Amino acid sequence: MASFLLHGIPVSRGIAIGRAHLLTPAALDVKHYLVPEEQVEAEVRRLQDAIAAVHHNLQELWAGLPKDAPTELGAFIDVHALILSDPMISEAPLDIIRARHYNAEWALVTQIDELSAQFDEIEDPYLRERKYDIQQVAERVLKVLTGTALSVAPVFADEDQPPPQMIVVAHDISPADMLAFRDRSFIGFVTDVGGQNSHTAIVARSLDIPAVVGMDQASRLVEQDDWLIVDGDAGVVICNPSQLVLEQYRARQITMAKARKRLLKLKKTPAITRDGTTITLLANIELPDDCPAALEAGANGVGLFRSEFLFMGRGAQALRIPDEEEQFEQYRKAVLAMKGRPVTIRTLDVGADKPLDQTDHTALNPALGLRAIRYCLAEPQMFLVQLRAILRASAFGKVRILIPMLAHAFEIDQTLGMIEQAKIQLRDEKIRFDEGIEVGAMIEIPAAALALPLFVRRMDFLSIGTNDLIQYLLAIDRVDYEVAHLYNPLHPAVLQLIASTIATGHKAGLDVAVCGEMAGDVKLTRLLLGMGLREFSMHPAQLLAVKQEILNTDLGVVTTRTRRILRAMEPGEIASAVEQLQTL
Ligand code: PEP
Ligand code: MG
Repeated sequence: MASFLLHGIPVSRGIAIGRAHLLTPAALDVKHYLVPEEQVEAEVRRLQDAIAAVHHNLQELWAGLPKDAPTELGAFIDVHALILSDPMISEAPLDIIRARHYNAEWALVTQIDELSAQFDEIEDPYLRERKYDIQQVAERVLKVLTGTALSVAPVFADEDQPPPQMIVVAHDISPADMLAFRDRSFIGFVTDVGGQNSHTAIVARSLDIPAVVGMDQASRLVEQDDWLIVDGDAGVVICNPSQLVLEQYRARQITMAKARKRLLKLKKTPAITRDGTTITLLANIELPDDCPAALEAGANGVGLFRSEFLFMGRGAQALRIPDEEEQFEQYRKAVLAMKGRPVTIRTLDVGADKPLDQTDHTALNPALGLRAIRYCLAEPQMFLVQLRAILRASAFGKVRILIPMLAHAFEIDQTLGMIEQAKIQLRDEKIRFDEGIEVGAMIEIPAAALALPLFVRRMDFLSIGTNDLIQYLLAIDRVDYEVAHLYNPLHPAVLQLIASTIATGHKAGLDVAVCGEMAGDVKLTRLLLGMGLREFSMHPAQLLAVKQEILNTDLGVVTTRTRRILRAMEPGEIASAVEQLQTL
């Protein structure tokens, strides 16, 4: 068996060693025949019944979502249900059966091929990638038509035996199918398409399972039951490795497991540098149910509650926005769960790769469109409801309000005006809230970072959103795998902008946090400390490793080194200096 190595985009850390389980598209192999005139309507009904069965299956999947299922999964099921209801899928193939007498499978594949070709013409890469969602939905219908089980997970013969360790290899994985993998023995994911923030990547990270995406040809080159090593740190997949390589990776796996176990001991240790500076470590959460994981990791509070996830994955209510009472209950739940620690609730950040409903897809450049605060200010009634709900939750513990995507002074002023309006209403209604609630700004548009005095004058605290700051500063779509290699947190422009934001914010006496992915990257902890960062907010799973790095850091030394890094321009020089920081 030939051994070979494939490179892709690492999206979820760790090493998985197991056998390949290939998911091949059902669409590749359908029967083609012409239906006699008198059977055409029966064939139409066969397709209609299959579509109805998939609808039913999606509803069941939604209803059966485990309580602790990643929140994104519900949203993805909704998207598939919406696609299935679209006349392009639910009606056009019926017309093909009637007009051309194709059998149901052939009619569906014909229509999907047609749609896929249209999607290929679309310039916007995000929209172009939606082609795969449509294909996944079609595959579900084909599986019903051809009588193949809907479940794509393998069935293991002997229930008493531990199932073999399997790694999924697919062109793309639908998030709904991911659900089926949750309780199975899949230990890794490999896909041909997808970027750092593709649906598969997001879910794999939530499940904490090693994954590499954007591998281009993996599903063609890898064969069923091939031995695979998935290196989720390096973005490498080794097919049929030699015994020597296998042993090396097994040894690395053992070392990593031991390191994880050791880290747990740091849960209660305060994050203090060697020279005595205390660092605040906060958690990023999507739902109140994530709070126990934050506490388990020893977080000092929640630095980023991405409230938009409350607005997504609402099943049959997909297009309905949660009312004030429902939002209030959720915010209060998080506040109570954090037991007195601060909870920073970010107001709705929809748009771009987090559409509230399918109509959001109409923007040509959604990342530059009506996103986040822009959307909220355009929908003041909805925004007011959210602000009232957050304010009401502030009566139950320390709450801070964080506003995403601000760039203009008038946006800040309008937002603060709306918060004031919500406060006046609550006072009139004699509803309690924290009068001194702090309001902060996400600094994630380069214009905001460059015009920081506008913000420090008006805001109580700042939180740097490096994910978007890098996207907008370097003009790299954060969900497009074709430009993923250009998404570089160490670009000198990025480093200088982050450092100057921290310095200017601190000079004005404001707390400054980083809540983008950079905060949870242990390779960058010392660099950020050297820039003066004292507040980090990240996924709970990353928190203890970052804490360990902080405990071993001498701030004086890294600050001097970082000043030098900030003066450097050459990428090689910056990269090696950042690497050296870790060895100090
Ligand atoms: C960011 O942009 O860095 C951020 C934290 O927000 P999000 O990833 O939700 O856009
Ligand atoms: Mg952002």
